[in-house]
Amino acid sequence: MKFTPARPSIHGETLESLAARFAAAGEPAYRARQVLGWIYHRRAASWDEMTNLPKALRGWLAEHFDLDASALVLNRQSEDVTDKLLLELRDRSLIETVIIRAPQDGVGLDHSRKTICISTQVGCAMGCVFCASGLAGLKRDLSAGEIVHQLMQVCRREDARTPRARAELASFDNVVVMGMGEPLHNYDNLLRALTIVNAEWGLGFGARRITISTSGLAPKIRRLAHEPIGFRLAVSLHGATNEVRDRIMPVNKRWPLEELLPAVKAFAAAHGRMVTLEFILIESVNDGLEQAARLAEIAADVHAHVNLIPYNTVAGLPWRRPALARQQKFARQLEERGVSVTLRREKGHDIDAACGQLRLRTEKEREKAAPA
Ligand code: SAH
Ligand code: SF4
Repeated sequence: MKFTPARPSIHGETLESLAARFAAAGEPAYRARQVLGWIYHRRAASWDEMTNLPKALRGWLAEHFDLDASALVLNRQSEDVTDKLLLELRDRSLIETVIIRAPQDGVGLDHSRKTICISTQVGCAMGCVFCASGLAGLKRDLSAGEIVHQLMQVCRREDARTPRARAELASFDNVVVMGMGEPLHNYDNLLRALTIVNAEWGLGFGARRITISTSGLAPKIRRLAHEPIGFRLAVSLHGATNEVRDRIMPVNKRWPLEELLPAVKAFAAAHGRMVTLEFILIESVNDGLEQAARLAEIAADVHAHVNLIPYNTVAGLPWRRPALARQQKFARQLEERGVSVTLRREKGHDIDAACGQLRLRTEKEREKAAPA
């Protein structure tokens, strides 16, 4: 289903596209840079704040562009380190944006590393059996503006937390595209959004600090390898053999490991830096030692870092995480084979931080309140 808003989001415009719109409306092209400066550098909350623009132009902008593609409907902070924003779009769809304040190893909770996790679709078409986002299928793609606006919401929230020293997006260490949706299934909007996030006239956030996570759309990984901006790549592997992947990730039937892994290698070769293999540990599904051994071979072959993530339970699904001792044993198997590996400690378990869960719960509550 496609959603066409009454006015397009201003956050989906590039410097070039906005300059072209101004030119067509008989305005000088330099206005585009002025407007984007107000939005991304000064974070104006209304058109009227843009005081060096003629009043008539501010009226024209208000008529043609949406300054608020999403509204914050819920902000949940977990007891540990996760801060989750539930955002409502113009068509009432819900998406999630998460701020993760991770402690640095050995330093305790100094909240020194900050990561923002953004969504790219409402729902997801890929149907991974363990994932809350995919349960109801894909509702629609997010527009580029809706993707960028999630970061504006984060900036706004951070500004409110630190009123005296305005928090810059640059004070975040990473942006990860690991929220709801399969980013490479919404390729054009994703690339346009990340171009805006990266551009000097936009949010100015370095491409090396932006990671795109994919369930394994091999042809799109190859395409991404040739983009002029060098984003980082994470691949959700979750199974080291086709047999295991087929069981839990339908995408593997379309692009099995013999197609996926060469694409990942091609990406790594084009970028000259390591990719990350994400591996959720699910009890009795992929936590056996033969999976660890095969995963170690794959990691060595594609020269990847492995991120082990204990599965977050999803209400209504049967999957569980293995006991901590088993997680650690799995990690050790990789380490002993010379693989660079991290075993993530859980974050935000108490606020349903695993992708798609907060939205799922809120949609269910809505259904109860107003049955369709
Ligand atoms: N669609 C993309 C990005 C969004 S999902 C992808 O699949 O990579 C981001 C990550 O969260 C993926 O690695 C996904 O497998 C993982 N994930 C989904 N549900 C999870 C759960 N319940 N517990 C832990 N990780 C989960
Ligand atoms: Fe979609 Fe990623 Fe969830 Fe799979 S894990 S259903 S690709 S969001």
